[in-house]
Amino acid sequence: MKNKIFLSPPDVNSLEKNSLIDAFESNWIAPLGPNVDLFEEEVSDYLDIKSGCALSSGTAALHLALIILGIKKNDIVLCSSLTFAASANAILYQGAQPIFIDSDPSTWTIDIASLEKAIKKFKPKVLIAVDLYGQSCDYDLIADLCNKYKVLVIEDAAEAFGSDYKGKKCGTFGDIGILSFNGNKIITTSGGGMLVSKNEDYVNRAHFLATQSREKKIYYEHKELGFNYRLSNLLAAMGRAQLSKLENFINKRIKIFDRYYNALSSIDGLSFMENADYGKSNRWLTTLTVDTEKTGVSRDEIIQRLEKNNIEARPVWKPMHLQPLYKDCHYISNNSKDISKKLFFDGLCLPSGSNLTQENQLRVIDIILSILK
Ligand SMILES: *Cc1c(COP(=O)(O)O)cnc(C)c1O
Repeated sequence: MKNKIFLSPPDVNSLEKNSLIDAFESNWIAPLGPNVDLFEEEVSDYLDIKSGCALSSGTAALHLALIILGIKKNDIVLCSSLTFAASANAILYQGAQPIFIDSDPSTWTIDIASLEKAIKKFKPKVLIAVDLYGQSCDYDLIADLCNKYKVLVIEDAAEAFGSDYKGKKCGTFGDIGILSFNGNKIITTSGGGMLVSKNEDYVNRAHFLATQSREKKIYYEHKELGFNYRLSNLLAAMGRAQLSKLENFINKRIKIFDRYYNALSSIDGLSFMENADYGKSNRWLTTLTVDTEKTGVSRDEIIQRLEKNNIEARPVWKPMHLQPLYKDCHYISNNSKDISKKLFFDGLCLPSGSNLTQENQLRVIDIILSILK
C-alpha cells in the first residue's frame, strides 16, 4: 500500500521543534510566557491590527467573542449554515438562539439577500460570518446591512488566515475576528486560536476572561465567571515558527489548487469553488462540486475510491440546519433552492496540505481521472 495522503496535515520541521525546545529550556512552561506575547504581537502586525489574545482554540475565541459582545440567554445570533460546528456551538454555550443563513451559490459564503431577510425578520444582536475554506465573505455588503440594523459582527476566519478581502487581511472585519491554529489549519500550534480586534478594550477583556477573570489583587479575587482559555507558552513558540512560514504555505496551497484545476476543471460536471473577485483566498482546502448526472459518478464514490487508495478526501461541511443538534432552529434562504444543502450533497474537499508533494498530488488526480473515464 502506498503511503497515506491526508486532507490537511500539520507541516512542521526542525524550525518548530527548535522553537519548542528553546521555550522548554527557557523554563517558561507555566503556562504563560514571552512567546505568548510575541505571538500575539506578530499575528497582530501581520494582520495590521492593534492587538490579539492567544487562546487554547478557535472555539474558545468564538465563545469569548460572544460574551464580550454581550450575548446572553435567548439572544438571537445569526450564523452561516455552511460551516464547521464550532461556529454555531459557541452560540449554544451562551444559551442563545442560533438562526442559520444560506450560502451564495458562487462564493459559497453567506448569501447577502438571505442575510437581509433574516435581519429584518429576527432583529439579531450578532452575526457570525464564516470565511469558508479560505474564501472571504463580502464584508462591504455585510457592513452596510449590519451598520444599518445595528447588528454586531464576528468574523470567523478560522479557515482564512492569510486570505484577504479588497487588500485587507481576513480576521480584521467586523467587531471581533477569530483565528484557529488547530492541527488541520493553514498554520498550527497543534491546538490553539486567537481573538483579534481593532478595539483594544475587547482584546483586554478577552485576556481577563481567559485567565479566570482574576481581578488585579495580590490574592485571588473573582467578580465574574472566568475561563481557562489561554494558549500555553510552549505552543505559542511553535506558532511563531509556523507564522514565519505562512506566506510560503499560502503559495503552496494556491499552487496545489492550480494543479487540481488544470488537471480536472475541463471535465464536464466538475466545478471548482471560484475565488471571488473581491479578494484572495488562501486556498486552505481545494473544494469542488461533482454533478453526478454529468460525470456518471457520485461524490461519495470518488471519496470511497480515494479511501481505498489510502487517500483522505471529505465531503464539504454538513450545514448546521441539517444537523440533528440544530434541527429545531430557523434557516433562512432567499433562494428557491437550498444552496448550502446542495453544496453539501455535491461538494468534495481534496487533499491540500502545504506538504503535499507533486508526486502525491498526481496520485490523487490520476485516481479521479480513472474513475471519471
Ligand atoms: C476549525 C474551525 C473552528 C474552530 O477552531 P478550533 O481551533 O478547532 O476550535 C471554527 N470555525 C471554523 C469555520 C473552523 O473551520
